[in-house]
Formats: sequence, C-alpha cells, structure tokens
Amino acid sequence: MTQEVLEGKREIEGQIPERRPEPEELEKLKAAEEDAAQTPAVERKRGLPVWRCKVCGYLAAREAAPKVCPICKASQDRFEEFPPRSGPALPVWRCKVCGYLAAREAAPKVCPICKASQDRFEEFPL
Ligand SMILES: [Zn+2]
Ligand SMILES: [Zn+2]
Repeated sequence: MTQEVLEGKREIEGQIPERRPEPEELEKLKAAEEDAAQTPAVERKRGLPVWRCKVCGYLAAREAAPKVCPICKASQDRFEEFPPRSGPALPVWRCKVCGYLAAREAAPKVCPICKASQDRFEEFPL
C-alpha cells in the first residue's frame, strides 16, 4: 500500500517538470491578459497605434491617422498618438447610445454621431 502510494506519487512528480516562471515571463503574461481585456473595448488590434484628433477628441485605431477627421474635418496634422508619450492622458468618454469614443477634457455636449446629449456619456477607462 505504502509502496503503491510512493510509486504513484513519484510518477505524478515525474510528469510535472520543475520549472519556475521567470518574472519577465509573468510580466508578459500579464500584459497579454490586459491587451485581451482591452481589445473589444477600443477595437485596438495588436500593434495598431491609436490616433486622437486634437480638435474634437475623435479616436481611431489604424496604421496612420486619417487624412481628414470624419467628425470635425480637421486635417491629418491635427492628429496625435494616444495616449501621448508625455504629459497627462485625457479622460476617454464613451457615448452609451452608439459607442462613440472621444478623448477630451469633458464629454461633448452632443454626440457627433447619434446626437445623444452629454448626459448619455460615461467615462471609459482605456
Ligand atoms: Zn476631429
Ligand atoms: Zn452617440
């Protein structure tokens, strides 16, 4: 009996390679989890930068900033990467009606997409 248990135990132990995950590896796993959690929310694909229109706060995740902002018609040079590499990040607002996202000091008075009023916006953690 004792013999069997010992053999069984030894067998199980033999199947589990002794391996301690490196702290670096854990960091990577954590980052991957965070990425996955964010993916549906901001439609951010891995490696795609997020661009913010400095005029209206419009956010777009794509290879390059749009030539013209679809919301306020500002030109491409009015776009910056978001969140900015330096300086404080602006809060992101989400229209609860249509899902429109804008990064700016305060939510827009009226949603440029669906015309919902400011009280239909909520702060959205990116
Ligand atoms: Zn704009
Ligand atoms: Zn809306």
